[in-house]
Amino acid sequence: MAPVTKQYDYIVIGGGSGGSGTARRASGWYGAKTCIIDAGVSGGTCVNVGCVPKKMTWNFSSINEAIKAGRHYGYNFDNGYSFDFKSFVEKRDARIKVLNGAYETNWAKEGIDLIHGTATFVGEHEMEVKPKDGSEPFRITAPHITIATGSYPTKPEKIAGSEYGITSDEYFLIKHLPKKMVFVGAGYIAVELAGVMNAIGVETHLFIRHDTFLRKFDPMVQETMTKHYEELGIHVHRNHPGIKEVIQLQAAADASDPREKQLKLVMNDGTEMITNELLWAIGRSPEIRDLGMDKIPIKRNESGHIVVDKYQNTSVEGVYALGDVTGQAELTPVAIAAGRQLGNRLFGPPELKDSHLDYDKIPSVVFSHPEVGATGLTEPQAIEKYGKENVKTYHTKFSAMYYDVFPPEEKKKEPTEFKVVTVLPDEKIVGLHILGKGCDEMMQGFGVAVKMGATKKDFDSCVAIHPTSAEELVTLR
Ligand code: NDP
Repeated sequence: MAPVTKQYDYIVIGGGSGGSGTARRASGWYGAKTCIIDAGVSGGTCVNVGCVPKKMTWNFSSINEAIKAGRHYGYNFDNGYSFDFKSFVEKRDARIKVLNGAYETNWAKEGIDLIHGTATFVGEHEMEVKPKDGSEPFRITAPHITIATGSYPTKPEKIAGSEYGITSDEYFLIKHLPKKMVFVGAGYIAVELAGVMNAIGVETHLFIRHDTFLRKFDPMVQETMTKHYEELGIHVHRNHPGIKEVIQLQAAADASDPREKQLKLVMNDGTEMITNELLWAIGRSPEIRDLGMDKIPIKRNESGHIVVDKYQNTSVEGVYALGDVTGQAELTPVAIAAGRQLGNRLFGPPELKDSHLDYDKIPSVVFSHPEVGATGLTEPQAIEKYGKENVKTYHTKFSAMYYDVFPPEEKKKEPTEFKVVTVLPDEKIVGLHILGKGCDEMMQGFGVAVKMGATKKDFDSCVAIHPTSAEELVTLR
């Protein structure tokens, strides 16, 4: 049995957004003796294989769209233009390395011990750590332990050959663009990455099980965006019967170069398709694989996520969980905010003893083409909650000024669409759904207003900023 070598006030398992947020609050603000145990690369999913490289790649693809728009503005590309995806990826990777270092520097500055290794529960407040460098395992204890291990992208277990496809993790290894790529899934990841690949010239196929994607969003978003993706040239296979088998005809010699890779997809209806790459984006699973969950009675739900109350308490006293491993709004800023609140509650002054994150009206953005922003209830959710007679919805669809110089048939394809869902009698805004160019940056400020309990009248009382798309939200009739 490995000896107990260290005792901490606070052990945080996972050095991603949530783990870092809670450890820094506990140690940096309140001086708790804290350690982070991280089995991967510092910064977790967001920094390494999520938000950061995704947004940088979305920027890369948006530049290609802007160049194409430039033609309509009179820019001349008669001699053509080209891009070098590999050199962009190398710059992106270099930036991520900087961020990895920044995380570790901040932790060190704030007195947090970082252990690269795997932590497994051996008792309710005791963990065995296997260091990544192969050195001897050891044990650590603390009265407070937070599980912030995140999640990993799921591959379908029952489809033969599913291992030949990749997930969003391996997507970020690609340095050479495949000619053709298939995405399976209908959520944020499938829609974002399919949009990016299409915008940089990859023949893109999106297999969705139903008639629309982003089905957790308002019907306006689902319908407009699914149709728009088709207009952009993405082959959206609506109501797809599903893949039965994936056969690898040819492997890529180098995983970063799927151009030579060949997969045969055999569908459940007997049809077949050949593609260079296949990406599963069918959801993520909680990362609990190495935690030794059989050793402590931590309650989990049917999907395996750790069950927590509003204070992030698990069913074991002194053990907490936050972020993707709990399945609560799987978003980086949610994990950070929950982590900081937990740090306040456990180690802060008495007036912060009730600190917890309010999970209501969390805004988010899908970096699709164009972007989608949403907060609060969809129209059907509002009707279900308040009754149809109590819900009043405002809606507008128009073409943004950016597209005014486009040929009319192209201009009409570029949607900007807003929906404000209010509840009578005072028309309190309970849901806001926006899509269109610039909606990513537009969403945050309106998110504040909706969180503060804004009414339609409050929106109307704000003078419009002209000419913007956003002004349509304060002039809705
Ligand atoms: P999601 O859970 O958002 O979406 C996956 C979707 O894929 C399901 O909703 C389902 O939609 C569809 N699906 C599930 N199983 C299958 C299957 N076997 N075959 C075909 N389709 C299937 O997962 P993601 O992987 O997209 O993202 C995970 C989480 O990461 C998100 O919930 C989000 O919170 C977060 N994220 C946030 C981002 C952001 O903030 N911009 C960006 C990326 C991720 P349906 O039922 O319609 O078929």
